[in-house]
Amino acid sequence: MQIEPQAFDRVLSSMCTEPHPDAREAAERFLATNPGDPGTYPTIATLEDEAVAMLGELTGLEEPAGYIASGGTEANIQAVRIARERAETRTPNVVMPESGHFSFRKAADVLGVDLRIVPTDETYRADLEAVRSCVDEQTALVVGVAGTTEYGRVDPISELGDIAASVDAMLHVDAAWGGFVLPFTDFEWHFGHAAVDTMTIDPHKMGQAAVPAGGLLARSDELLDALAVDTPYLESTSQATLTGTRSGAGVASAVAAMETLWPEGYRNQYVRSQRNADWLADAFEQRGYDVVAPTLPLVAVDVPRSTFDALRANGWRISRTATGELRIVCMPHVTREMLSSFLADLDRLEAPVSVPKPGDD
Ligand SMILES: *Cc1c(COP(=O)(O)O)cnc(C)c1O
Repeated sequence: MQIEPQAFDRVLSSMCTEPHPDAREAAERFLATNPGDPGTYPTIATLEDEAVAMLGELTGLEEPAGYIASGGTEANIQAVRIARERAETRTPNVVMPESGHFSFRKAADVLGVDLRIVPTDETYRADLEAVRSCVDEQTALVVGVAGTTEYGRVDPISELGDIAASVDAMLHVDAAWGGFVLPFTDFEWHFGHAAVDTMTIDPHKMGQAAVPAGGLLARSDELLDALAVDTPYLESTSQATLTGTRSGAGVASAVAAMETLWPEGYRNQYVRSQRNADWLADAFEQRGYDVVAPTLPLVAVDVPRSTFDALRANGWRISRTATGELRIVCMPHVTREMLSSFLADLDRLEAPVSVPKPGDD
């Protein structure tokens, strides 16, 4: 097979990136291992404990519990599953802002819980009044997002925790994308800042690990136990993951990326990405576009559909928000040169303004 994967030089929409060279090397080395069977593959199982310990360090979790999942989707499904298992009602609901990721729709579907979606406010964050009036005795879980997929916003996590506690519900923070940049900001988002029970944080996004490497964290082992099933034919006695056989490549690459990059490498990357996002937002504003100011390295901007289509036709991998804004994620592979070349194409392809001809009324 001679086909090459796509290059990253025009990819502006992805929340994944080129793995760090150390992560790539570790992924290749551990390709033929299965952390789902720790009795047979003990080395990768030990590495997974290390990965969870390091994720705990990033997220203020003192006695880290969790595992490396196939991605944010699995981690979110499992968080809903933990909450459902612990809820005392047979008709549990999950309350989430509309900025929450679509993986929660899958979770609700698979797990048979009622997903209640509440509006966001004018700052694109969970509207606390709306959350407050939506929760009830049947609420098993309140979801807050730390780095939303469309606008990079961080919900008021500790207030959401208070609301969850008022009805005896759990609090889940989805930091799938934001988790590896938030440690370098002033946001309050993690286990050390608020009464967070579970969290999604993906090494295969801003963490620069190879796919598949998602992360599920829990405040205690006891929470994770809600997921455990017996495993008759394996030497290990129980399994908390959703998948059985899993990629040791993802686990090893997560450890390698974090060993190399935490904290200085990630800090430098955050600074570089945030500067690029701020620079890009300014450049759009100077051209007269409406920009949603980036609070994390993600820019959303209102460009005409025709311009968006023309840019895509020119090979730019870009995507749009639900309300149609162009969305650019300043991942590690996104350089200032790429963004300059993107803007040059934008200037060239911009929807032509109709200029009245002399003589027209
Ligand atoms: C990307 C993302 C997910 C889903 O993660 P996958 O790894 O694609 O399954 C969930 N939540 C948020 C906030 C995300 O950005």
